[in-house]
Order: sequence, then structure tokens, then C-alpha cells
Amino acid sequence: MQGLMMDYPLTLTPLLERAPKFFGHKEIITKAGTTLERETFAEWAPRVARLANALEKLGVRRGDRVATFAWNNARHMELYFAVPCMGAVLHPLNLRLPPDQLVYIVNHAEDTVLFVDASLLPVIEKLAPQFKSVKHFVVMGDSVPETTLTPVHAYEELLRNASDTYPFPNLDENQAAGMCYTSGTTGHPKGVVYSHRSMVLHSMGLAMSSSFGIAESDIAMPVVPMFHVMAWGLPFACIMVGADVVLPGPHMQPRDLAELIQATRVTLTAGVPTLWLGLMNLLENERYDLSSLHTMVVGGSAAPRFLIEKMEKQHGLKIIHAWGMTEMSPLGTVSRLTKAQLQLPEAEQFDLRAKQGMPPPGVEIRAVDEMNQAVPWDGKTFGELQVRGPWIAREYYKDDRSANSFRDGWFATGDVVTIDAAGFVQIVDRTKDLVKSGGEWISSVDLENAIMAHPQVLEAAVIAVTHPKWQERPLACVAPKPEFKDTLTKKDILDHLRTRFAAWELPDDVIFIDAVPKTSVGKFDKKVLRAQYRDYVLPER
Ligand code: ADP
Repeated sequence: MQGLMMDYPLTLTPLLERAPKFFGHKEIITKAGTTLERETFAEWAPRVARLANALEKLGVRRGDRVATFAWNNARHMELYFAVPCMGAVLHPLNLRLPPDQLVYIVNHAEDTVLFVDASLLPVIEKLAPQFKSVKHFVVMGDSVPETTLTPVHAYEELLRNASDTYPFPNLDENQAAGMCYTSGTTGHPKGVVYSHRSMVLHSMGLAMSSSFGIAESDIAMPVVPMFHVMAWGLPFACIMVGADVVLPGPHMQPRDLAELIQATRVTLTAGVPTLWLGLMNLLENERYDLSSLHTMVVGGSAAPRFLIEKMEKQHGLKIIHAWGMTEMSPLGTVSRLTKAQLQLPEAEQFDLRAKQGMPPPGVEIRAVDEMNQAVPWDGKTFGELQVRGPWIAREYYKDDRSANSFRDGWFATGDVVTIDAAGFVQIVDRTKDLVKSGGEWISSVDLENAIMAHPQVLEAAVIAVTHPKWQERPLACVAPKPEFKDTLTKKDILDHLRTRFAAWELPDDVIFIDAVPKTSVGKFDKKVLRAQYRDYVLPER
């Protein structure tokens, strides 16, 4: 027997249409230089319609890919809805990717129109001759500055000449709405194609109170760039629930963020740990009123326990740890404590909050051993995390490598984890970052987090270095806080670790560096360090 409910497609269009009706006075606030630009949802929606008309005039048809090369700003929010709702595919490009990867991505996705922030024009001008499919460039500003791009249009001019109503088509919910490429730590980046359905369900997943918990009462600031897994889906979720949106533009330094939170009374924000480590250090010396913030979602790399504890105890800021991937839209797990866990002693609560947490409904998890057999949920046994669900990719876009990651209806994440009896996932390491010492595995993440808890340390990364006897041994690369640059010693670091780790887990050596290199999305870039210290000769232990 079939259910007798309407076959109502899950597309982004109803979200676009309801936002101005119910939340017309809500705002998208963009930091532009020293000013704050404000656009209400009532102003935003007709501009989205104008943009859809303009795209059609440029020849964009159903299924065409439209690329953006832009910071987090209001025009980008317009593209986020105009492109998918007219039936095309939004493709934000990662501003920080090396040129060869950008060219690969644009050609692989066959982007037809490319929108670029005026400040980023020089990057695109250099690459444009290598783009094979781009037919139009649009500069996201009032007019077109002096440029070699052709044919090129000014965003505002296109909008001025377009009607503010658009007959948004009825779309199939499984139609592509957007795509993002993984940052390609090995080989070419891999394309992930989101559907309307996956984006709507993912937005609902984000809104759940056991997840990000975004509500109409929120003023949400995605610091995570709009090119990094669509700002983790926050722009869609905010429009869906009617939350105000604050966008930092290119101003992403800790001081910029603290000022912006203070000025706009942000309640919820999200970004990678390096951002918040920076903010925490800033708050040691400078004072801001950040009392409006009730939730800081931290993910993309492991949020160290000391960061969670210190932010809360010293600054009253609540970090919610989350894990996800480009392939997962990205929501995978969120570390919000259950009623029972909230009765535990404080230290145990912080231990749990430093884990990556529990999947929301919509994400199914299991951890498997080398024989692809599920391992027990005992909080101890390591396994590779596999996931499945309606907002998880089933294959990469036109890529032979899909078969390596997608098997039997599951996506193999490449993350080694433990899962405890409560279903809390802890990411032990990425498979490729684990230090394989003899028959044992050492978590580089655990060591890094412990080292960064040392009060004189700013950042730390632990990498595996080849060892004649043990195959690999850990090498700690430590960036001291500037004031301790000349005084912090290897012995200080090892003594600090000794109480928490067995002797065989300790790094064989500690080297001091100015800063840990970062990836294009602000995570520690250990492959740079690995390449730099490939032939490093470890001292005898
Ligand atoms: P990439 O870093 O490859 O560009 P993603 O942003 O999709 O692409 O990264 C996903 C990976 O980031 C995960 O597989 C995991 O290794 C890591 N990651 C994400 N969130 C966390 C977290 N909270 N703790 C530890 N690792 C995380």
C-alpha cells in the first residue's frame, strides 16, 4: 500500500519564495571595508529574480554550470539562489587553490559563466586564457574596471537591465543544484554534485536543535568561506529558517571577526579551528563584547579540547564541535551532549565535547576493519568510518576514482575513528596522517592537541617520518607563541606530553617553526611539512 501524501519536490525554490514573505525585514549584512552593507530579504529576493533573468539573457540553460570566485558577501548570496532556482548549477571556486587546480576544476566542470569579485580580478585574468568553456565573465560590482577579460559584464548593470520577476521553473528535486570540489590533497580535486533534494534535507538537518540548531532568532555568521562546501550549507539554512546573515567579506582576521560580532550581535558562527585559536589568542590581550554569541560551530579539523574548555571558562563562548566532509554537504556528526551525558562530571563532559559527536538523522555511520567488517562501538577499537544518507554523495563527478571510495552503498571517508557505546564518533586521524610505528598506530591529532595545550605553544603539527626500524615515527613541528620563541625547548614539549602518552607514542624529535602551513581552507597542511622533512634524520631514542 502506498502512502497518500503529495509528491511535492524538495527544491530550493520554495525557500527563496517564502523568505521575503515571512522574513522580509531580516538582513544580509556584509562587511565591505570599514562599512556594513545591509540588504533585507525583501530587497534580496527581487534581486535574485533579476539575476536569474540576467543569467538567462547570457545564455545560461538548465544544467549549465555557473562559477563564482568570490568572498562571503551579499551578491554571492544572490547567486546562491538565482543559479540553482533557475535550473543551473552553482559552482563556487576555492579562491586559494593553486592556479593549475583552478584551471583543472573550471574545465572539468565546464563552467559557462564566471562571476568574480572585483578585488580578485587579477587572479582570473591570469588564468582565463586556459579556460575552455567560459563564455562570459561578470565582475561583481557597479561597473567593469580596466580588465583583459572578455566578454565581461558588470553585475549591477546586468541587474538594472533585468526584470525583478522571474518565472522560476518547476524542477525535479534530484536535479543538480550545486557542486564543490574537494581540495585535492592527492591528485586532482574531485567534484561533488549536490541536488536540490540533498540541499533542502541538509538545511533541515542543520536546523535541528541537536545539530547546528539555527533558528529564526539567530544572527548567523558563516566565517567558513562560501567556496568551502557552500559555507557548510549555512546560507541555505539561514534563508530557510529566516535567520539574519552576517558576511565578513575578505575580512577574516581574528580582530575583524571580533569587531564584526560585537557590532552586529552575531549569535551563531561557524569555521575551522585555526580561526578560533586566533580569536582566543586575541582575547588574551584585547576586550570585546561577544556576549551575543551562543554557539560557535567548529569543524573541518579537530577542535582541541583545551580550545573548547578555555573559550568557555575564560570567555563564556560555547564551542560545538562538528565533523563533516565535502562529500557530505558537509554535515556528518555534531558533538552536543545528551541529557544523560550532561549529568557527568565537568571534565568528562569536555572530553566528550572534544569528540566529533553523533550523526543527526539522515546520516548513518559504521566503522569497519581491513576486512570491511563492522567494528564494535566500544570507544576503543579503530575502524575506517563509512557513511550513507540522503545528503551524502554516491559518486564523484566524471571521475574514475569513485570506485575507490563508494562501495556497497557506503562512502568510505578515509577517516580512522572509534565509536563509543553512545554512538559518539572520535576521529583518531586521517588514514594518511596516522603514524604507523611498528604494528601500532599513533594518532597525530592527539599529539598535536596535547602540544597545543601547552601555554607557550601557538600551533603544532605532528607528521610521520620514515624510520629504519619502526617504519614511521612521529616528528613534532611546533610554532611557539612569539614571546616564547627563544625559550621554549624540546624538553619542555616532551615533559608536557609524558604524563598523557606512553613512551613509545612520544615524538622522536621536536622542531620549532614560525607557523604551521595552512591549506586553502585554513586547515593545517601537513603534506607541506611532510615534503619538507621527508629526509629528516631522527635522533636515536
Ligand atoms: P579537504 O580537507 O580534503 O579539502 P573537506 O573539507 O571535505 O576536504 O575535509 C574533510 C575532512 O576533514 C574529513 O575527512 C576529516 O578528516 C577532516 N575533518 C573535518 N571535520 C573534522 C573534525 N571536527 N575533526 C577532525 N577532522 C575533521
